[in-house]
Amino acid sequence: MDAITLVARTGRAIRLGAGDSIAIVNLFGQQVVDTWAVSAIDPTTVLSMAHSRMANGRLAVEAGDTLVGSDREPMLTLESDTSGGRHDTLIPACDPARYRQLGVVGHHASCATNFRDALQALAVPVPSQVPQPLNLFMNVPVAGDGSLGIEPPTSRPGDRVTLRAVQPVVVVLSACPQDLAPTNGAHHEPRDVELWLRPCPDHTGGRPSS
Ligand SMILES: [Zn+2]
Repeated sequence: MDAITLVARTGRAIRLGAGDSIAIVNLFGQQVVDTWAVSAIDPTTVLSMAHSRMANGRLAVEAGDTLVGSDREPMLTLESDTSGGRHDTLIPACDPARYRQLGVVGHHASCATNFRDALQALAVPVPSQVPQPLNLFMNVPVAGDGSLGIEPPTSRPGDRVTLRAVQPVVVVLSACPQDLAPTNGAHHEPRDVELWLRPCPDHTGGRPSS
């Protein structure tokens, strides 16, 4: 099993069969990874942060949680997490409009574009709207009055989150290109992330063996 490098500012879509898992390793410690899942059977069904917040009864996610789709069926479990569990489920993916608001003229890589490009690379139909991502390692404190902040991640180099597929899914990951806010640390420098795929030992990863 070899590691896959998710290069800073880029995205990648990966098929997981039921029982397969993927570890997302924060090599440098403070890189946010926008994460989505799309059903491999019905691509109109996507991982839903709103339905997952309802299912788990909290804003954040933590090890042991089940993440559900827009049909309320389990799609992923958050199997383990060494980071201390600061992940965001509220902030939308960065997109070209956000970078224009921040003063960028011309092209700037974005998680929303990475999401679309990664699905297209696997010939998976792209949803008309980019779903709310699970923003792994993103530190968005919620104050008692409901106000939100965006602060540098509290995760450390080598921290990892492992997600396991409950059903066949396409997982999409984007190493967030945000370099105009402390989203990816005070240094404003997006970094590479490492991915480790682990097929379910009971089968061939949900794909028929031939
Ligand atoms: Zn982003």
